[in-house]
Formats: sequence, structure tokens, C-alpha cells
Amino acid sequence: MPHLLPLEDAIRRVLRRSRARRRGRVPLGEALGLRLSRAVRADRDHPSFHRATLDGYAVRSSDRAVGRDPLEVVETVFAGSTPRVRVRPGRTSLVMTGAPVPPGADAVVRREDAVLLRGGAAVVLKTRPRAGDGVHRRASDAKRGAVAVPAGTVVTPRVTAVLAALGAVRPEVFLPPRVAVGATGDELRPASSRGLGAAAIRNSNGPTLEALVRAAGGVPLCLGSAGDSEAEILALVRRGLAAAEILLLTGGVSAGDRDLVPPVLARAGVRKVFHRVDLKPGKPAWFGANGRTLVFGLPGNPVSAQVTFALLAAPAVAAMSGNPDPGPALRPARLEGGARRNGARTAFLPAAVRRDREGRLVARLLPWNGSGDYVHFARAGALVRRAPRAPAARDGAACEVLLLDPGA
Ligand code: AMP
Ligand code: MG
Repeated sequence: MPHLLPLEDAIRRVLRRSRARRRGRVPLGEALGLRLSRAVRADRDHPSFHRATLDGYAVRSSDRAVGRDPLEVVETVFAGSTPRVRVRPGRTSLVMTGAPVPPGADAVVRREDAVLLRGGAAVVLKTRPRAGDGVHRRASDAKRGAVAVPAGTVVTPRVTAVLAALGAVRPEVFLPPRVAVGATGDELRPASSRGLGAAAIRNSNGPTLEALVRAAGGVPLCLGSAGDSEAEILALVRRGLAAAEILLLTGGVSAGDRDLVPPVLARAGVRKVFHRVDLKPGKPAWFGANGRTLVFGLPGNPVSAQVTFALLAAPAVAAMSGNPDPGPALRPARLEGGARRNGARTAFLPAAVRRDREGRLVARLLPWNGSGDYVHFARAGALVRRAPRAPAARDGAACEVLLLDPGA
């Protein structure tokens, strides 16, 4: 058997070459899910004034009249307006939520605790606040110039709230890698084809890998497919190298007579980093680099292509998008129903996965017909890792799983 690179080494070699390189400013609405490549600082104090947090009466907390005697109401301040009158002892201003607290006042008593006199020209407050009650202090969230959102933060809807409030409407982010996807094989027809000859099949890997790229946060570029000829594959490879940071090919990397992808990649100037990994399915996986462009030659079998994408290519996409912890993330789980003794290679087997009442992952192996069986594989939510020559596992044994749809 040719030398098989341990999977961990293969992942390490991929990640060593997967640096986030492209940065750029994007409109805030397009930044969702991307990572900030530079910290965003507060453009001014936040809040920019002492802000009333409720509708109520602004007072001096030290005023003995508060909570006891009538106070004269000297002004009403709405959100967006500027108070003009200083609050002195024996006086108060009615302020609305979001209005600036007038000078002199250091607390706001909620409206419900006020008894109105003379049609609201004066009030008796039933409670005595402490200094700061009902006030969102100026600069208490972020001082002008301070880092409000650190570099590396993923833009979530919550982060969008901060960026919008700071006026950072074109944040600088790590631009996700463009990933060109091309298939190889004489038997392939576009997925839209009807009336296929018996030996022809639809190119399902193209749409599959585009979906996987998108799910991993990359930007897919569709190259279509090439037949099993050096000239066709070379043309496809050149188009991919010119357009993307990552080139994904499927098919043509095994030991068959028409497995032309490795020699064609060499002709195109792509330097091999590894070929063949201790992995089932996915042993023929090929990886190399052309300058800064990473090239993956994934096996053509649809399940092998998906498994090798999840273990090798998805981490590259994540790392190039600025993720410092790009995976693949193996999680502890219990193996319901056990497993048979494993063969000589590290295996990743399709499994249904759920959480038990304590929230722990529970996986159960699914029946399937091997790496060409995309139908049963589609029912899997996870892959169970089995070590080389692992003995049979009993029901409930500890195992490790890779979730296939981590966000779902
Ligand atoms: P290969 O890796 O080229 O030896 O292909 C292995 C198996 O995967 C063969 O049965 C191919 O017909 C199948 N296959 C290759 N490429 C694709 C593709 N793009 N879509 C679906 N099946 C494919
Ligand atoms: Mg082939």
C-alpha cells in the first residue's frame, strides 16, 4: 500500500498554508458573518450624554424635598431635544426615555411614582432615588476613542447594532476566500441533463461543493466540468487558478488509468504537498499550492468528496476567513448501538445525531452502501471517527463526532 499521510498531519499541512490575506471594506449589510480585520473604536462617547432610561422626573438625589414635598416642574425634555434649564433644589424636569438628563440632576424617578399637582405644574415624588438611578451615564459603555469592537470579532446582528451606532457603515473585514469548483470525468453531464445514457451521470459534486463552500463561509465560483483529457483539465485548472484563492477539483486523483489530475496540476505549476491520506472514505485526496492559491484534488465519489471537504478544505476556508480556530472540530459523543471493529484506515462513518436530556451528543451509525451512496449519506447529521483497527465498540461507548451542519 502506498504511504498514507496521517489525517492530523494532512490537516496541519493545509492549515499552515491557509492564512487570511484579503481584507477590504464592505457595506455593513454585507458584513454579517464576516470577521473584523481591524478594531472599531468609539467615534464619540457612548452614550454621548447622560441619558434618561425611563419616562420620569429628573431630580437632584441630595434634594431633601424629593420623596416628600412638592417640586416645581420647570421643563419637559424629549428625546432629541436639549435641556435648557438647570435642575435646582425644589425643582424637577419631566424627561422622556432617551432624552438628555438636564444639568444639575443626577437621577430620574419614574413617572408612575409621581402625584401631579396643579395639572402637572408641580409634582410630589413618592420615592427617593439614589444618585444614578434612571440615568445611563455618558461614556459608561465606551469612551470616545476606546475599542468598542475588537479585531477578529464575527459580525453578528448584535455587533451590527454597535457598528451602526458608531457610524461604522463600511467596516474592514477579512474577505472570504473565492473558491473555484471544477469536476473532472468523461461520464459527467450537467445536473440539469435529461435523457442520460446508461453510463453517464449528473455532475452532482459541482453543486454539492458550491453548497459546502457557501456553508463554510467561502464564495464559490462554478467552473463546470472537464472530460478526462489533459487538455480539458488543464484549461479548467488555469481558469480556476486565475480566479480564486482556493481551487477544488473532484475526480481523477485515484489510481485509475484516466486519473490525470495530479500530472496536469504539476504541469500547471501547482506544487504537491501531499497525495493520499489515512482516511476512509477519501484516501486519494491530493493537496498542493500554486503560489498562494491552494489546490485540492478531492476524490470523485460523492461521499468521499464531501468527507474530504469537511476534514481538509472547510478548515482552509475558515482559516482564510480569519477564523483562529478553524477546525475540524471533533466533539465527544456517545455511540448508541455500538460499532463493528474498524479496518486499517481512520474511518469517518455517517451517523444520525441528537442530544440527550443532559444536552450531550448521541450518535447512531446509519446503514449505507459506501462512498458512492449519496442517498443514505444525506440522512446523516454527523460523522463518527473510528481509529485504525479500533475494536468493536459497545452500545453507549465514548466516541468523537464531526457535526456536518454545525450551525443547524
Ligand atoms: P474518480 O475519483 O474520478 O475515480 O471517480 C470515482 C467515482 O465518483 C466514479 O464512480 C465517478 O463516476 C464518480 N464521480 C466522479 N466525479 C463525480 C461528480 N462530479 N459527480 C458525481 N459523481 C462523480
Ligand atoms: Mg474519474
